[in-house]
Amino acid sequence: MADYEPDCLFCRIAAGEIPSDRVFEDDTVVVFRDINPKAPTHLLAISRRHIPSAANLTDADGDLLAALFGAMRHVTEEAGLRGYRIVTNVGAEAGQSVFHLHFHLLAGRHMSWPPG
Ligand code: 5GP
Ligand code: ZN
Repeated sequence: MADYEPDCLFCRIAAGEIPSDRVFEDDTVVVFRDINPKAPTHLLAISRRHIPSAANLTDADGDLLAALFGAMRHVTEEAGLRGYRIVTNVGAEAGQSVFHLHFHLLAGRHMSWPPG
């Protein structure tokens, strides 16, 4: 699998070919605002490298996951968020619509459980 897939929306967002409202980026990770927010704060954390979903992660991706969760911790601390939810959908059945690994970070309202 190539690191960059030209037909992938989030590869193109990571590359800056499609604009996004970025709140954090480094060599590995980009965090940007969801275009259709489901909470007052709704961010998406992605790797620059194309990985279709969490089902495609391997033992070699530990550093990548640490970078993703480190970036999310950084933005939540910066925004002073204490309670938030991190979600990743795997497969269309679970609600995944963009097939490039992303973590939703939702905050700013009460979160019910279980999710629908
Ligand atoms: P999924 O449904 O795959 O778990 O999440 C995909 C998310 O990407 C959705 O919440 C959707 O609103 C968001 N999204 C889709 N297209 C764009 C876009 O062009 N820009 C941004 N910022 N978010 C997008
Ligand atoms: Zn991609």
